[in-house]
Amino acid sequence: MSSCIALVVAAGRGFRLGGPLPKQYLPLGGSAVLRYSVETLRAHPAVDGVRVVIHPDDRALYDAAVAGLDLLPPVHGGAQRQDSVRNGLNSLAEAAPDLVLIHDGARPFVDAGTIGRVLAALRDRPGAIAALPIRDTVKRGDGERIRETIERSGLWRAQTPQGFRYPKIVAAHRAASGAELSDDAAVAERAGLAIALVDGSEENFKVTTTDDLARAERLLAMQRGDIRTGQGFDVHAFGPGDHVWLCGLKIPHGQGLVGHSDADVGLHALTDAVLGALGAGDIGMHFPPSDPAWRGAPSHRFLRHAADLVTAAGGSIAHCDVTLICERPKIGPHREAMVARIAEILALDQRRVSVKATTTEQLGFTGRGEGIAAQAIATIRLPF
Ligand code: MG
Repeated sequence: MSSCIALVVAAGRGFRLGGPLPKQYLPLGGSAVLRYSVETLRAHPAVDGVRVVIHPDDRALYDAAVAGLDLLPPVHGGAQRQDSVRNGLNSLAEAAPDLVLIHDGARPFVDAGTIGRVLAALRDRPGAIAALPIRDTVKRGDGERIRETIERSGLWRAQTPQGFRYPKIVAAHRAASGAELSDDAAVAERAGLAIALVDGSEENFKVTTTDDLARAERLLAMQRGDIRTGQGFDVHAFGPGDHVWLCGLKIPHGQGLVGHSDADVGLHALTDAVLGALGAGDIGMHFPPSDPAWRGAPSHRFLRHAADLVTAAGGSIAHCDVTLICERPKIGPHREAMVARIAEILALDQRRVSVKATTTEQLGFTGRGEGIAAQAIATIRLPF
């Protein structure tokens, strides 16, 4: 089987959308635009590695955008897109893959089918690109006035990925250095290579304008429209000690909470809520109390594990809400810090996290100060 590396080009300074961020780093559905195509390429069984070509100023943005993904180290791009691709190709000299897929970082919705069609066409061609035939009548205009109608048969709109046999495209790019060509297929054509056209997808559009970004948000909402909720409930009893862990914070208190781990009743309820939304059992199944590995364990690890399961399922956490039920300690002074800590553990915007508290009017075990209860609800979005 051929080895294949995907180069994702994300070095552009496209501030066209008006904001302070290049468009490949704009937020889309809670992640950066760039992350989506990188994840899809990384997950494709025929792709052995993914390398992103970035602008030297964007390292922090890049690190945040692809956090947790297993990628080849990024390389720096050049002044023009063509220079960036050439730098990326040169960086693969030692790896020397058989095939390389070149993809625009601002096309978040590339799908496995399109990647597979490009790779299949490379079996007997030096290059192949995803493209769509033009269906609308095409006019050439001069300002607002039509000059001519162009015969549309045989016209295609080029997309990415564009795939090539690695040695051929490296040679073509080196030879084209200095010439201004609008895509990698044009570089290959200039070198006389026969490049195949394979079907792309209407959803594989480039996010260039504010309208594109809104369209991308709508598409993502549809793709992730399978909304699930889960609830969790937990209780821990007070025992000897001088602090309690609640929602990831260490809070000084005249007593501690008894438990196998750090007994963080709030994070346990929330972990169970996330697992419940996934239909993935409960915290005890994932972290058995009988396992000494979890003795005294910080509960943020349990919550992070549940969140990782959501990510692995292609989903995201939309919102979570925790209610702590106790007479003491008073939660109010710590509430905002708890929200911030949970948002940090889940890598979520704080507006997606809620923490509140209630007493039980001195009734029942919480009212008598024998322990703390917590309940939580989590809403997640999964792909259909
Ligand atoms: Mg518990």
